[in-house]
Amino acid sequence: MTDVHIHIERGPYTKEWIDRFVKQAVSVGMDEIYLLEHSHRFAEFAPMYASVCEYSDYQKNWYKSKVNLSIKDFQALISKMRNIEFPVKIKWGLEVCYFPEYEKLIGDILNSFNYDFAVGSIHWVEGFGFDHKAEFWNNIDIEKIYRKYYNLMLRLAKSGLFSGVAHPDSIKCFHHYPMDDLTDTYSLLADELNYRQMYAEQSGGLALNYGFEELGMNKTMLDVFKNKNVDIRFASDAHKPEDVGANILNMQAFLQA
Ligand SMILES: [Zn+2]
Ligand SMILES: [Zn+2]
Repeated sequence: MTDVHIHIERGPYTKEWIDRFVKQAVSVGMDEIYLLEHSHRFAEFAPMYASVCEYSDYQKNWYKSKVNLSIKDFQALISKMRNIEFPVKIKWGLEVCYFPEYEKLIGDILNSFNYDFAVGSIHWVEGFGFDHKAEFWNNIDIEKIYRKYYNLMLRLAKSGLFSGVAHPDSIKCFHHYPMDDLTDTYSLLADELNYRQMYAEQSGGLALNYGFEELGMNKTMLDVFKNKNVDIRFASDAHKPEDVGANILNMQAFLQA
């Protein structure tokens, strides 16, 4: 059993810290874990976040509180850890916020080191961080933001930059849903993921980190992805060692039901 989305961000780059994730993985029956960091932590990705900082002071302060490392620090950790034998298989990679204007920057950074994977994610739509606070949605046009979100998702897949897509319907995080039927959009996305040999995360992230009641993708999307045989992989979106493997068994049982 594999957990493909685990953030190591809340601790130091030491073997002791990584051991805690490994220990938890073993105790919950995972034999493979994907450890990652988010692009917003690294100064090298800073140009991508200009629109985010311009959008509001809240977002600027948020971003400034997150960016505190060079990607070289992470690469050094990976190189060191790859020489150590762990009782579970570890893949090392990045969760990269996708901004279509910055495909070259993303590509250059991803190509500068031999990561095991890179998962693309959408957290920002034209600068708006939709998953931060419910009240920020007050003046948002739901139909419009959904259309933009899935356009971005399709471009993310078409970019060819990523091994997979993270939490592909996280736009629902504060329970806003469009009137539009999105079946055709999900179908296009499934085709594109298959064409690019990308996986889609069945992610417990919203359930784990937002208390969201639905585990993983919405039913329509899940049905489309299943019917089209998209490579679906299970992701806890853990942000601390104790959450490694969270919801994975439930999501697997649900998928097979
Ligand atoms: Zn994410
Ligand atoms: Zn994440």
